Amino acid sequence: MKRSYDSRRRRMIRFAASSVIPLVLWYSLAAAQSHPDQTELNDVHFHLTNYIQEGTDIHDFLKIMGAKVGRVALFGIPLQQEWSYQNSGDFAPTYYLQTDAPLYYYSFTDAYIAMAYRSLSKEQRERFDPMITGFNPADMYAADHIRRVLETFPGVFSGIGEFTIHKEFVSAKVAGETASLQNPALDRILDFAEKVGLVVLIHNDMDVPFAKEGSQPVYLDQMKALFRRHPNTTIIWAHTGMGRIVRPIKNHAAQLAKILADPQFSRVYFDISWDEVAKYVLSNPEASRITADLLNRYPDRFLFGTDEVAPPNQEKYLKVYYQYEPLWKLLDEKTREKVRKGNYERLFDEARRKVRAWEMAKGLNF
Ligand SMILES: [Zn+2]
Repeated sequence: MKRSYDSRRRRMIRFAASSVIPLVLWYSLAAAQSHPDQTELNDVHFHLTNYIQEGTDIHDFLKIMGAKVGRVALFGIPLQQEWSYQNSGDFAPTYYLQTDAPLYYYSFTDAYIAMAYRSLSKEQRERFDPMITGFNPADMYAADHIRRVLETFPGVFSGIGEFTIHKEFVSAKVAGETASLQNPALDRILDFAEKVGLVVLIHNDMDVPFAKEGSQPVYLDQMKALFRRHPNTTIIWAHTGMGRIVRPIKNHAAQLAKILADPQFSRVYFDISWDEVAKYVLSNPEASRITADLLNRYPDRFLFGTDEVAPPNQEKYLKVYYQYEPLWKLLDEKTREKVRKGNYERLFDEARRKVRAWEMAKGLNF
């Protein structure tokens, strides 16, 4: 009797070894494969909506991200293009270059982004870091708007931006006072971002369009002065300061290297988003090599972003990512991983932790 019990037990153990354990292993392997860590990239610069506040449904966008994209910094566009009947009649402009009518700050974008985020499941939310953009950076009350958004939608936001100070064609079209790097309103915004732990994503052209070759870039010193006034704020300079026709200034990489080497600017980062930036980086082998050298020298300070606006499918969404293929090949493995994924996770994990702590200290529930 005992022997047959023993043999039955042995048979059961053998069965467990042959089927149950591999099954458990298979499940954990499958779980690891669907984990965001297996993804190729994170996107630090993504607009869910366009200049008339229309865009991709966030659930559709999750499908567009697929298994390739892990996390995305999510925002709309703070500026609304007015449809002025006086100006364009029945033609409804969807982009700022299609009409002379002004742009105005559309604060509702923050509520829209927060509600889109809240429509997701807990697991889906993990893949997004929503950003506050709906404020006028020339308004001394802008920091109060940011605080109010955090208080109204606790548990949602990790940063502010992309917001714009100087941008070719755009700045001049914004209704009201023109934004400036020297405006104390901007200092109030960056002070508040530091206090809460919000990541700041700022668009500011380094120079004016069609600048004279070899001249000092107009906004570089003002930008450095701003960084110096806010050494403890985490700031990502979008597009490394380039614009569509604000060309990479002579020795652009050398100017960036000066900022990167300066310990005063240790919390300044750059994103390489936008197909216009990729165009310059890949314009010739020399430009690509100089860019790759800089990234390899400062692997912790650059982040990939798409700068796509309301894309209809993954091919369109990841156009810039594929465009950068020659650059990816020139990066060493560690740098490639950090620029595409690691730096994003480091900055935004820290921001999430700090902003949630600030909200909790204020007694906000989420
Ligand atoms: Zn931009």
